[in-house]
Parts: sequence; structure tokens; C-alpha cells
Amino acid sequence: MTAPLIDPFQRAVTYLRVSVTDRCDFRCVYCMSENMTFLPKKELLTLEELDRMCSTFIRLGVRKLRITGGEPLVRRGIMTFFDGMKRHLDSGDLDELTLTTNGSQLHKFAGDLWKAGVRRVNISLDTIDPDKFAEITRWGRLEQVLRGIDAAQEVGMRVKINAVALKGFNEDELFTLAEWCASRDMDMTWIEVMPMGDLGNEDRLDQYWSLKDLRARLAERYTLTDLAERSGGPARYVRLEETGQKIGFITPLTHNFCESCNRVRLTCTGQLYMCLGQEDMADLRAPLRASAEGEGQLEEAIRAAINLKPKGHDFDYSRQRTDGQMSRHMSHTGG
Ligand code: SAM
Ligand code: SF4
Repeated sequence: MTAPLIDPFQRAVTYLRVSVTDRCDFRCVYCMSENMTFLPKKELLTLEELDRMCSTFIRLGVRKLRITGGEPLVRRGIMTFFDGMKRHLDSGDLDELTLTTNGSQLHKFAGDLWKAGVRRVNISLDTIDPDKFAEITRWGRLEQVLRGIDAAQEVGMRVKINAVALKGFNEDELFTLAEWCASRDMDMTWIEVMPMGDLGNEDRLDQYWSLKDLRARLAERYTLTDLAERSGGPARYVRLEETGQKIGFITPLTHNFCESCNRVRLTCTGQLYMCLGQEDMADLRAPLRASAEGEGQLEEAIRAAINLKPKGHDFDYSRQRTDGQMSRHMSHTGG
């Protein structure tokens, strides 16, 4: 038996989030600048390397794999990777294979993803107003994402909508979005905007809409019941009694989840970030490239990295300063 991955604070690492590309067909204003420079392709893990990497984590006890990016579905050949991961679902070593996507390519991929064992998908959508959608994503078209959502639901996937809470932008859609999601039997999660990347941070402070306020406003119209359910991540959930749907709140800026944190993130270049809010990372690409499957070097490097997982993180908007700011982009680390 291989010993599971346990960090110094006795948290078992069972959840791996993997960014498979830093590229994207959108340019959401809070995530990317319009003229992004992307990494040279040779820096990226190949599909075969991604498979070996994830398979090693699964052997070490990871039970849930979330694929993200950039936009995971613009990575060429990505279905080869998903198809490969299916063997771990089939063997029972993996409980869930899922992805976070902007939905733009989902109409093409939903059927194949279902065949690869994907049963749930998170789709990022901050507004259902076509003009506002074009404004916030710069390059996106709402209609295409709606087609993707239709396709995912048609094949039988559960869809959850993720929206970034932006003051003065989607505040007025709080109820519209909740009702639209309820009418389509979709749960929803609100995400507090994070100080990631190196651009427009001041704007982001301006756009910061606290989920405490958002939640209070929801409670003016609906009866909210707190759910005990925890994902091991930064989300807390309530049920809206009137619609029956679940609403999540992801507040990465507060410290209320670090103690139960069961996750680590792998970038598309093979760096492992042990905490969303800290810069500490371990390079796993070198040991991966140096070792053939079955050799211990990668496993050793993963264990050494997990030993460095910090107790908690450092974001802080409360003092209106930016020293908790991360210099990396969500699209690189995988949001
Ligand atoms: N492209 C895919 C998508 O948009 O779903 C996956 C990658 S994206 C980086 C993952 C999530 O991060 C999205 O839900 C996005 O809204 C969120 N995100 C990006 N930048 C963010 C920021 N500065 N603060 C909070 N959430 C952010
Ligand atoms: Fe692309 Fe997702 Fe970032 Fe938007 S949030 S630019 S869709 S990676």
C-alpha cells in the first residue's frame, strides 16, 4: 500500500486541480489583459506528461480531479487526456473527474466528456445580459455559452454556474441569476474577486463586492438555510428554500477554510502550488521529465512538496493594501 499524502497539519490531500493550458478564447477583465503573452508550448506539460502526473497523484490518494486553465477545452487534443483519466474512474481509484470551463466549446465536447466519465461541470458566467457578457469577457459571446450549457444538460451533466461578484456590474442580477439558475435546475456559486495578476488591481478593489453583503441581500428575498456540506475548499453553501437550489459562496479572502483545506493546484507547466494564497511552489516538471513511469523521483518530489503545505494563507483586502497580492494569473495557476 502506498502511504497517502498527509501534510504537516494532518490534512489529507485528496483533491487536485490541474491547469492544462494558460490560453483562453476569452479575455475576462478580472483575469487577463487583452494582449496576453502566453507561454511557449514547450514549457507546457504534454498530454502524456499530464496523464503521468495525474496518475501519480491518484496513486498517492487523490480522489477528485478538477481540470481547469486558462480554458481547458481550447487545449488541443484535450479529450485524449480526459479519455485516459477514465481508467481511474473505472478502477474506482478516482471518485470524480470534472472541469471548470467558460463553456464556449462545450457544445462540441459535452458528449465526449460524458463518455469519459464527466458527470458535473462548473461553468463560469457572470451575467446573462449579452452586452454585459461581451463587456466583461471582451471576446466572448453569451449565446455560445448558452449553447454549451444546453449541450451539457442534454447529455445529463449537472451544471453549476460560477459567477464572480462585481460591484456595479452584476449586483443588479443577483435575483435574475438565482431565478434563471433555478429554472434550469442549476446550483450556483458566487466568487469574491481576488487580487490576482498584475493589472488593474485598483479597479478590482473598486469592484470588490463582499459576499457578506451579497448574502444579506439574498436573504431579503429568500429563506436561506445553511448547509453543513463542505468541499474542503473555500466554499460555504446555503439552500434557497423557495427554489430548492444550492448557492455557494467562495470567499478566498477570508481564512475560514484553511483548516480543512484538502487541495493543491498544478499549473500547466508542472508547478505545484500548495496554497491558493501563497507563492510557495514546487517544480514537479523536472522530476517528472527525469523519471519514467513507476520511478520514485516524482513521488518523492510530490511528498516533499506536500510537506511544505502551509497552514493558511495571506490575502488581505481589509487594510486596502496590496501586499497579499499574487503576481501570478489565475489562468496560469488554474482558478
Ligand atoms: N476558463 C475557465 C473558466 O473561466 O471557468 C477556467 C479557468 S478560470 C481562471 C477559473 C475561475 O476563476 C473562473 O470561474 C473565473 O471567473 C475565476 N477567476 C478568474 N480571475 C478571478 C479573480 N481575479 N478573482 C476571482 N475569480 C477569478
Ligand atoms: Fe479565460 Fe476563464 Fe480567465 Fe475568463 S476567467 S479569461 S474564461 S481563463
